[in-house]
Amino acid sequence: HAPRDFRALLETSRFHGDKVFLTYEDEHITYEEHFRRAATLARRLVDEYGVVKGDRVAIVMRNYPEWVIAFSAALAAGAIAVPLNAWWTPQELEYGLSDSGAKVLIADGERAAGLAGLAPALIVTRGETPAGARSFAEVMGEVEADVTLPTVDLSPEDPATIFYTSGTTGRPKGALGSHRNLGQSPMTVAYGLYRSVIKAGKDPGESAGQRRVTLLTVPLFHVTGCFAVMTTTMFTGGGLVLMYKWDPGRALELIERERITGLTGVPTNVWQLLSHPDLDKYDISSLSGLGYGGAPAPPKLLERITEQLPNRAPSNGYGMTETTALAISNAGADYLAKPDSIGLPMAVVEVKIADPAGDELPVGTVGELCLRGPNVILGYWNRPDATAETFVGGWLHTGDLARVDEEGFVFIVDRAKDMVIRGGENVYCAEVEAALFEHPAVEDAAVIGIPHDELGEEVGAVVRLSSPVTDEELRAFLRERIAHFKVPVRFWARETELPRNPGGKILKTRLRQEVLGP
Ligand code: ATP
Ligand code: MG
Repeated sequence: HAPRDFRALLETSRFHGDKVFLTYEDEHITYEEHFRRAATLARRLVDEYGVVKGDRVAIVMRNYPEWVIAFSAALAAGAIAVPLNAWWTPQELEYGLSDSGAKVLIADGERAAGLAGLAPALIVTRGETPAGARSFAEVMGEVEADVTLPTVDLSPEDPATIFYTSGTTGRPKGALGSHRNLGQSPMTVAYGLYRSVIKAGKDPGESAGQRRVTLLTVPLFHVTGCFAVMTTTMFTGGGLVLMYKWDPGRALELIERERITGLTGVPTNVWQLLSHPDLDKYDISSLSGLGYGGAPAPPKLLERITEQLPNRAPSNGYGMTETTALAISNAGADYLAKPDSIGLPMAVVEVKIADPAGDELPVGTVGELCLRGPNVILGYWNRPDATAETFVGGWLHTGDLARVDEEGFVFIVDRAKDMVIRGGENVYCAEVEAALFEHPAVEDAAVIGIPHDELGEEVGAVVRLSSPVTDEELRAFLRERIAHFKVPVRFWARETELPRNPGGKILKTRLRQEVLGP
């Protein structure tokens, strides 16, 4: 059954005992040790920092083991954990700290330096502890073998987390998730894994006996890392291997050394892994599952995986911060028959394609993707207007345009905010990008709207090319594939990588500013 709150998940994870939970470089932390450290820190938060149910405890650090311990401790103490984006500047972090009203901040030395004075009570790990702060080790003190969780009365509807959205379309919003949301999450992901096992003709019982060791390629401060990967690992008793930072070469080394069985990343991670010049030099035969999601995947990705790494059960997962990670996935579905689809809704999720009034549209029609289920968060922190706009009658309005086919497969068409409206005609950027990707010289592409007096908007594209191609050649190539009004009137060739956020999404607002000016 689904753990009713995070404490239940943490207490159950203790049964995994001596199995290694977290590996970072040469450090190994077993499930028992993780429980003891988390319980000890939870007690310190309550006893020494006066943390009570509902207080916010912020975390800002790299994917160190202490991230996981701090997260577990905050929730076990009844606090709301607030993972902040470690890529943010001190000014942005200041916003996260004041918006959430954090009582305690647990940070790594690198980030703490810019935050001393700003932060409420500051606890620092891995690096210098600024004046006025305390070190993680000092706060922890002695970890007793018989430590138990502090007593807190929690119910499944109580808030548990504030994760900030990626900020792809505007200022990041604090997504307030409940204990029920995070309790159901590992069940939902495990169900997806089961679906692939059954689909592959294997016995789920047999595969349940195999120890899963997962490489964490994405930040823990986004829901993919925290829920799709970390808490699911905690639930299933697998191992989680952490990296100092994402580096495809290092990832290959770790897959070989740690006998990694699966990894889930943003599409960019998988793409970079497959493109690595040393891919063939490593023994990566242990790797059986390859998941990606959280951002649109280049159309060629699935093809490349099936070609370069056959029998790796690739799976594309769709999720949002507002859906506690995974909501729709093609794990166990016929991904080769429908390579453009993100798959089928997870067991707990209901899907509706709606018109602007929120009414359901017929099968096959493009409209706004709306989702309902126990994975949908409570609302946005401090943002009553955005909450009222996005959560309507129990349905989460995702802001993504999609269609569903007769068999229930979901196809993402575009983000509503990205869509270019050219003289009243909708142009889905994703469609134009997919056509561009078919050109052998196109390494990366982003389609944007260019303001136009008469048409409202025109279509433009920023491309990264592997060999020179003229704009006219590109246009001729596209005219054979898409309607002429969708063909970009202007191209910008770029030498460097397109700007992406840690979620793997192209920062179109920034790109637009770069090429068009503010
Ligand atoms: P913000 O809401 O602040 O603008 P964001 O929407 O990028 O940022 P996230 O919650 O991290 O923040 O991302 C959710 C979005 O990511 C979805 O709405 C969707 O547009 C996109 N997405 C997630 N998974 C997939 C996928 N598998 N395929 C295509 N798009 C995806
Ligand atoms: Mg969003």
